[in-house]
Amino acid sequence: MFYYNISGIEKRKIVLLLHKNPDGDALGSSLALLFYFRKLNHDVDIISPTEYSDSFNWLPGIKNVLIFSKKNEDLVKKKFFNSDYIFLIDFNNISRINNLKKFFLYSKAKKILIDHHLSPISFDFMFFDPNVASTSIMIFRFISKMNNLDKIDNEIATCLYVGLMTDTGYFRFPSVTSETHFVAGKLMKIGININLIYNKLQETYHINKLKLLSIALNKLKIINKYRTTYTSIDYLDTKLCSYKIGDTEGIINYGLKIKNVVFSAFFFEEKKDFPIKISFRSKGNFDVNLFSRKYFGGGGHKNASGGILDKSLPETIEYFLKIIPIYYHNLMFSI
Ligand code: 5GP
Ligand code: MN
Repeated sequence: MFYYNISGIEKRKIVLLLHKNPDGDALGSSLALLFYFRKLNHDVDIISPTEYSDSFNWLPGIKNVLIFSKKNEDLVKKKFFNSDYIFLIDFNNISRINNLKKFFLYSKAKKILIDHHLSPISFDFMFFDPNVASTSIMIFRFISKMNNLDKIDNEIATCLYVGLMTDTGYFRFPSVTSETHFVAGKLMKIGININLIYNKLQETYHINKLKLLSIALNKLKIINKYRTTYTSIDYLDTKLCSYKIGDTEGIINYGLKIKNVVFSAFFFEEKKDFPIKISFRSKGNFDVNLFSRKYFGGGGHKNASGGILDKSLPETIEYFLKIIPIYYHNLMFSI
């Protein structure tokens, strides 16, 4: 029934909602869906609770992403209240939409989830699979379910591929399956330029981003007993390197490159004092989704999660260091 309702027979007002600090998967998936729904003649908007990294400025259709601010509050509110459907793209927890939460909760629109995170709460229509590497694969499946794969053009394919690339760490994470490559192959057949996409995402850094990385690498600590590494960026570092959103992307992965390390944490004082944004990554069976849910009010996936803590940076690190001994066995015997 739901598929029929959005099949294009009747024009619908649709909001595609993103999580805060939207990443390549959230942006790529929602832009692909925007182009697709426009082909079905719907009225579509993408709304983001916060800014995104400059590295996504080149994405086809990116100008359609409406970034919520005090200035456009009335417009955004109107879009929430006038829409027939609100799609949650690439997240399942409404704590991740900041101040848009009140509009979301009071809007009468049907709420549709398209996502790949674990343990969602209930929405009007759920299309999710935590075993899938990216939400963009879910969008591919969604279009396929509607028998519309022939509507995927170069722009849609580029956007989907960005989601695939960024959420799989360029096809290297354990979440990659044969379906990931199958979809990547289908998108390539449409004629996208994968080398150009890689270049735009990964070879357009500003030198300040590398300087920030070098600060984080200098501060990297290893605790062999718990096979754990952690590092941080504080507010002063961000000033020193003229920080822009997205500049800390990737720092978390370096710790995991060390032999025998299975758990990596990154603490980020983005705003002066707090809250602290935390990222976790693991290798093997240590579950950082559960870890983050339990102690840092966050979540994500088994091997990649994030959270937030309303403490100072030193207090947050101290809190973390107090917790990890509890996981001695899980970390020591992680495979
Ligand atoms: P990152 O470390 O790149 O910010 O996030 C890694 C993963 O954890 C992403 O899949 C993201 O969806 C999830 N994540 C990050 N921060 C939060 C958070 O505050 N809450 C929840 N539930 N998930 C998060
Ligand atoms: Mn994702």
